[in-house]
Amino acid sequence: METRIAQIVTCTEAEGPFQRMAIWFQGCPLRCPGCCNPEFLPFKGGEGWQVADLISLMLEAQQKEKIEGISLLGGEPFAHALAGAKIAQAAQANNLGVMIYSGFTIEQLREKPESEVHELLTATDLLVDGPYDREQPETERRWIGSQNQRVHFLTPRYDPLDPCWRMTNTLEIRVRGNEITVNGFPAKHALGLWKQPKPLKPEKASSE
Ligand code: SF4
Repeated sequence: METRIAQIVTCTEAEGPFQRMAIWFQGCPLRCPGCCNPEFLPFKGGEGWQVADLISLMLEAQQKEKIEGISLLGGEPFAHALAGAKIAQAAQANNLGVMIYSGFTIEQLREKPESEVHELLTATDLLVDGPYDREQPETERRWIGSQNQRVHFLTPRYDPLDPCWRMTNTLEIRVRGNEITVNGFPAKHALGLWKQPKPLKPEKASSE
């Protein structure tokens, strides 16, 4: 089975508790004003990945980078629920935790008719739900974009009282070859800075 992937970071501390592999799906049906990943919204784009290869990469990260779990982000993970469910089920079968960020509320997800949505929800330990609202930026809770979004501890795997939830947000910047990737939760005034390189000033014409 193939799915469209926008970005992968095999070990991050900026997308949920502990060290996690983060997988961003390519494609989201929602359009939250101020979405910080607008390039991940079209369903065309990204890279085609076999789900089996994503699971192999996840298990390799578990061995080599000692990840505690995975985070599925977007795009919208529940718009890729069949692939997401296979990945999440494989994660849990190998004692990895599953955290998901969704623009849908848990009530909306529970009302969806697609069985794969329910399979993915069943394989979720931690759900951050609801659309991003740029008018209500979150300043207290770590790893959460806006105040309307809720954290649902769907299994006992994660502890809402763990002090990690109150620590400062982090941003990670990686340079791989000639590519720069950025993930995490930047301060509000830094949002999108790395996506807006200043144009070079035109060279002055020589008078000689
Ligand atoms: S749900 Fe997430 S990815 Fe989709 S538009 Fe909203 S913020 Fe962007």
